[in-house]
Formats: sequence, C-alpha cells, structure tokens
Amino acid sequence: MRLLRTRAELHGFRTGRATDRPLVLVPTMGALHAGHLALVEQASREGEVVVSVFVNPTQFAPGEDYDAYPRDLDRDLQALAPLAPSAVFAPSRAEMYPREISVSVVPGPAADGLCGASRPGHFSGVLTVVLKLLNLVGPDVAVFGRKDAQQCLVIGEMVRDLDVPVRLIDHPTVREPDGLAMSSRNAYLSQEARTRAQALYRALATARRRLEDGERDTAVLVEAMRAELAPVDAIEYVEVRRVPDLAVPARTEGRLLLALAARVEPARLIDNLVLEVSDAGVRDASLFEQGDAAS
Ligand code: AMP
Repeated sequence: MRLLRTRAELHGFRTGRATDRPLVLVPTMGALHAGHLALVEQASREGEVVVSVFVNPTQFAPGEDYDAYPRDLDRDLQALAPLAPSAVFAPSRAEMYPREISVSVVPGPAADGLCGASRPGHFSGVLTVVLKLLNLVGPDVAVFGRKDAQQCLVIGEMVRDLDVPVRLIDHPTVREPDGLAMSSRNAYLSQEARTRAQALYRALATARRRLEDGERDTAVLVEAMRAELAPVDAIEYVEVRRVPDLAVPARTEGRLLLALAARVEPARLIDNLVLEVSDAGVRDASLFEQGDAAS
C-alpha cells in the first residue's frame, strides 16, 4: 500500500503500474468506517484499487462542518492496511487546489431538490472534485456509496453528459446492527442522540413495509415516515423520487428512491432506500443499472 501525497507521486504510480487489471478508484473524505471499507472490498474484486482521502473544502457551504470534520490519516491508513489497496492518494488542500479554482462543474437536474435544496453549491463542489480525482487517477471504475444516492446520480449525469470514461458502481449502504447508516458524522452524536437517530432507518423500514403491503400512495408513505421521525430535532426532507432522474414519480412503480434528511443535534443525517417496485413485489435496487446512461 503506497501513500501518495502529491500529483507527481500519483503520476509515478500510474505510469509505473505493471498490471493490466482495471484501475478502481474509491473516493473518500477519510474518517473511515466499515461502510468505506466495504467499498474498498468491492473495488478489490473489480481490479487494482486506489483510495483517495481528501476533505474537499468546495463542497462545504459556509457554516457547515468543514473545520470540525474528523481527520486522522494514520488511523485511516491502519484501517485500510488489511485490505491492501495498491495506493492511498491523500493530497493536501494546496496540492488539490494550487490556485483559486476558476472553472467548476455545473450539476444537472438530479441536483435539484433533496440535499441540493439545503446545500447550495454542494453538488458543484462534489462534481468538481470528483472530476479532478477521475482526471488525476484515471480509473476504469469508480465505487461510490448508495448512502449518498443523490450524489451518485448527480455524478452519473456528469459521467454521461461529459463522456467521462469511467464505469460507476454504487455499493449498498452499510448499517450498524440497529439499522443506522454508518457515517463519519455519527461521531458527532451523544449516546442519547445516537438512540434518537435510529428513527431514520425505522422510517425507511416502515415505508418499505407499507409498500410491501401494497400501499402505493406516496403521500401516505411520506406521512408514515414523518410519523416515525418524531424523535429527531428537525426534519429537513422526506421524499419519494424516481431513479435515475430523481423526478417526482407519476406512478409508484419501477425504481424509486425513498430519501430523508434530518437534524439530530449536532449532526445533519441522511439515509435512503433504493427499491424496485413492481407487481412482483418490492426488492432492493441499485442506482446504476444496465440501461442507465452512466452504467
Ligand atoms: P465520505 O467519506 O463520507 O465522503 O464517503 C466516501 C464514500 O463512502 C462515498 O461514496 C459514500 O457514499 C460512501 N459511504 C459513506 N458511508 C457509507 C455507508 N454507510 N455505506 C456505504 N457507503 C458509504
């Protein structure tokens, strides 16, 4: 496992590769947990792995937690060591942004609403750093977490519309035993808040059960989720959207995203389910499927 801190070191790694296995990138902001490690494991099955660790300033709005975001590269390297990715690219802020950035990526329609509504500029920052990482690393495949479903779909639209030569994989959300989606931001939660945070997954599981029981009215599903979210401090959104374009679905069938965001002080938490709903029933689905332009 080679630690690469600069573009020059990364370039040396790329040009010195002695394998024709696909190169697979797993972008992260560090503070690695079992969710990230599952992405790295999946990546290892696809080819030779590079993990990037970079807390990207341009995707945090003023007042968000850029300064507080947990950073511990030594711990991240220890967590990655057993999985033995070929390289970890962990650039400094100055290495990624040597000058003030003058060109950035404008997200497509999947960035409208959901997290895009409350985090102005967030997805432009995400797309810009993801495109930079894809250009610097040059992977054949990139693995992202389904936990950040809107992020995946926004990246999918960029890859499709800008002809970025990479195949995208979304890895299922990795959860704690009680259902809470693993997140670096869970570290902000007190024991008491951590218990209340269970409401997010309970809400999604309730909606899934209602769908399995035949409920097809999205207003009823949203209301059922909102009721389960009573323990959180504030609900930001609870929505049912269509995958992959995130349009409001005319009918409750096909691939659907049940998505929610809530504040459990001091954290802002998000979670979702991606489901295929048909006459045959309800099953988990992925965001990038054969036939989607980005897959
Ligand atoms: P982050 O470091 O939070 O930016 O996450 C890096 C990657 O890991 C993103 O593609 C996330 O969607 C993914 N990820 C984060 N948490 C989870 C989780 N609990 N399960 C699956 N993937 C995750």
